[in-house]
Amino acid sequence: MSRTRHHHAPARARLIWLVWLAWPLFALVACSATPDPAPTDRPYALVLGTAQDAGLPQLGCRALCCEAARADASLRRLVSSVLIVDPRTDQRWLLDASPDLAEQVELAREHAAPTAPGRPALFAGIFLTHAHLGHYTGLAELGREAYGSEATPVWGTESLVSFIEGNGPWSLLVSAGHIETRILPPGNTIELAPELTISSIPVPHRDEFSDTVAYRVQGPGGALLYLPDIDQWERWPLPIESVLVDVEHALLDGTFFSADELPGRSIADIPHPLISESIRRFSDLPRRERAKIHFTHLNHSNPAATPHSPAQGAILRAGMDIATGGMLLPL
Ligand SMILES: [Zn+2]
Ligand SMILES: [Zn+2]
Repeated sequence: MSRTRHHHAPARARLIWLVWLAWPLFALVACSATPDPAPTDRPYALVLGTAQDAGLPQLGCRALCCEAARADASLRRLVSSVLIVDPRTDQRWLLDASPDLAEQVELAREHAAPTAPGRPALFAGIFLTHAHLGHYTGLAELGREAYGSEATPVWGTESLVSFIEGNGPWSLLVSAGHIETRILPPGNTIELAPELTISSIPVPHRDEFSDTVAYRVQGPGGALLYLPDIDQWERWPLPIESVLVDVEHALLDGTFFSADELPGRSIADIPHPLISESIRRFSDLPRRERAKIHFTHLNHSNPAATPHSPAQGAILRAGMDIATGGMLLPL
C-alpha cells in the first residue's frame, strides 16, 4: 500500500509541475486561436494585408527584418489590401488587388465566399487606389492563366481606368471579359448595398501611371478610411484630422517609421509621412480619435512591423496601433 502511494505522489507532483510550466503556452495558443468572431448581421472590413507593395519578407533582403519573417511565418505580412464583407447580402468587395491576391482569397474564404460551382465572381467589385505594384497587379490572377473571372467590376479613377485599358497585359483582362472597368471619379460616392456606400477621396502621391485615391466605406454602424499611400499629410488640402472625425476606423500610410530606415536611399524619392512624425502630429488629438488609427502599408524595413519592438511600443503608447492581417473592423 505504502509502496503505491509512494509511487503516485511524485507522478502527481510532476503533472502539477507540467501544467504549471505549460500554462503560459496554453494561454498563448488559446489567445492566438480565437480571433474576433465576424459579425453576421452587419457589414465589416477584414484586413487582408498590411505590408508595403513588395511585402514582408521582401525580395532579396538578407537583413534580419526579412530573414526573421522567412524563419517564422507569423512575422510575414501580405501586401496591403482590405475586404469589405456584407453578411446581409452575402457580398464582398476588395480594396486594392495586391500581388498576394491568391493567398488573400484563401484568408477570406470564410467571409461571404462564393459557393456556386464553376468560377463564380470572387468579389462583387474591386476598388483600386492607384497603379503602383502593390495595389493593382493582383488583377493578373483574374486572367485566363489563373482564375479566369467573368466580368468582375474594377473601379478606379479615369486615369487608372485608361491606364488599365490602354496597357498590356491589363488590357487583355478587359478585352477578354475577365474584368469590366468602371470609373469612380474622386469625390464621388456609390451605394454597394442598403446603408453601405463607398466614396473615393483624391490623395497626393507619385502619379507616374495614375492619380491616387483613398476610400471611405460607410456602413450602418461605422465608417472606415483606407489610405495606404500619401506623399505627406501637409500636401493634402484636406486636413487628415477632419477626415478622421467622420470615421470609426482609419487604416493609414505607415510605410516608414523613421528616416534612417533606408541606408543609401533618400526618403525624398519615396515620400511618405513617417510614423514618428504622424505620432507627433496626432498627439494633440483626443484619445478616441487616436484610437481610430491603425498604421498599415509597412515597408519591410519598418521596425514597427515586429511585435513588441520599441517602435511598436511607441505607437501603442501614443494611443494608436499597427494593423494586422485578419483584423476585423465593424462597419
Ligand atoms: Zn503602395
Ligand atoms: Zn527586409
